[in-house]
Amino acid sequence: MTIKPLIILPDPVLRQVSKPIERVDADLQRLADDMLETMYDAPGIGLAAIQIGLPRRMLVIDLAKEGEEKQPLVFINPEIVSSSEDRSVYEEGCLSIPDYYAEVERPAKVTVKYLNREGKEQSVEADGLLATCLQHEIDHLNGVLFIDHISRLKRDMVIKKFTKAAKSKAL
Ligand SMILES: [Zn+2]
Repeated sequence: MTIKPLIILPDPVLRQVSKPIERVDADLQRLADDMLETMYDAPGIGLAAIQIGLPRRMLVIDLAKEGEEKQPLVFINPEIVSSSEDRSVYEEGCLSIPDYYAEVERPAKVTVKYLNREGKEQSVEADGLLATCLQHEIDHLNGVLFIDHISRLKRDMVIKKFTKAAKSKAL
């Protein structure tokens, strides 16, 4: 398994719309394992393939707390088939926007269908943190970031900060 470099805001790659995966094979499973390893190393609780520069519709999640046994989840071609009307608010962060957190309101429950690591069709009714995490990661597959759900003023501030940091790093 390999830890891959993360794509960081304001890299335009993060705005790409990822393409559906046509075949679940050993190469794809290896990629899923690399994504998990990269996520654990960061550390984070979710990672979409585009965050390591690959515009493919796959994401990984592990919500196990520190000290608990790992619970790796792989979602291939995930699709939200229904969302609840009631909403919940979580403080979100993103491995592509390090050290920035903001409260985001989203549907409290979602039903997501997807293929698992073995390519088998699955469906999950998620609530709580898993519901938020799935929506955050599926947004990535559509080129959407969690800062798109906060006020324009706050978003402009964080983009400006990261653009400045990227420029000073390039010098
Ligand atoms: Zn993210």
